[in-house]
Amino acid sequence: MLEVSGIVVRYEDTAALDGMDLTVLDGERAVVMGPSGSGKSTLLRVIAGLEVPDDGTVRWNGRYLDDVPPHRRGFGLMFQDYALFPHRDVGRNVAYGLEMQGLPRDEIARRVADTLDLVGLPGAERRAVATLSGGEQQRVALARTLAPGPSLVLLDEPLGSLDRTLRDRLLTDMPAIFDRLGSTVVYVTHDREEAFAIGHRITVVEGGKPVAHGTAADLWRRPPSRFVASFLGLENVFDVTTHHDVATTGWLAIPVPASHPRPVAIAIPPEHIVIDPAGDLEGTVVEARFRGGSYLVRVAVADGADGAELTVDTRDAPPPGTPVRLRIDPDAVALLAR
Ligand code: ADP
Repeated sequence: MLEVSGIVVRYEDTAALDGMDLTVLDGERAVVMGPSGSGKSTLLRVIAGLEVPDDGTVRWNGRYLDDVPPHRRGFGLMFQDYALFPHRDVGRNVAYGLEMQGLPRDEIARRVADTLDLVGLPGAERRAVATLSGGEQQRVALARTLAPGPSLVLLDEPLGSLDRTLRDRLLTDMPAIFDRLGSTVVYVTHDREEAFAIGHRITVVEGGKPVAHGTAADLWRRPPSRFVASFLGLENVFDVTTHHDVATTGWLAIPVPASHPRPVAIAIPPEHIVIDPAGDLEGTVVEARFRGGSYLVRVAVADGADGAELTVDTRDAPPPGTPVRLRIDPDAVALLAR
């Protein structure tokens, strides 16, 4: 188990990390997600031992790592700008960490072959790095990271430079690879699709500290704040007025527990708004955008001064100008702190 607690890293007048906590269970894939500059890379460097924090502790399986140098931590790192060794062939790139460990040659050859199998490049040992596609290079870099059998795998935006098709393939393959190895993983990204695909649990960071933590589904259904909701790509986030224990927009009223912090915002996932002739909210279609499998339809709900646009996820594509009625499942409306 990895326990990161209260980490502070200061650079002159900015704090890259400002009280960062993270707990990762054995075999868990933890994603740390946040915008550029939120401290994600700094966190990985602290865990790897490449950066000494101004405050806070890192423990691995109960042991404080303060005085353990990077190469003795037994962690594997892969950064976005990973560089393969251009003058070594694929096999010798993957062998690098095993050579450092001083393993016998036949053991190295066996482990290189096994790892190349695992990442979907069986028999690629003799290929020159220059002949590899971008996706293949990424797989070799992953193999190089995994071959020494790291107890913790640290990945910093590892798919950042890949085109969409290759990225999608690796997003399917990587969790399977980690599952087969039983790896404990910290995966850092700004990309929500990667976060959803990789993470058993996701920690959202802002300004060098955690602001939300949970499974992707939990965070999607119950984002704790406007920042988290919009960062996850949730549409339909609105500020609402609360009166006693009811929150209202011009077109929706939902109960708010007395204990919920004010002021309140709400988020309504598009898939929980249904176009339904029996719905009690009137609107007009503004735009229908195909996104493969379904349409995202924007509907203007004109209800007094508080008219708004709602994004609806639907199989049909009513053309712009079509009057529609909407039904919103009140249980699917998430209450947020603003
Ligand atoms: P992220 O990985 O989320 O993009 P970083 O951890 O790289 O964020 O950086 C967090 C903050 O710390 C940023 O404001 C960045 O400019 C600053 N920072 C990172 N490294 C250094 C450094 N070596 N010197 C000065 N500032 C730095």
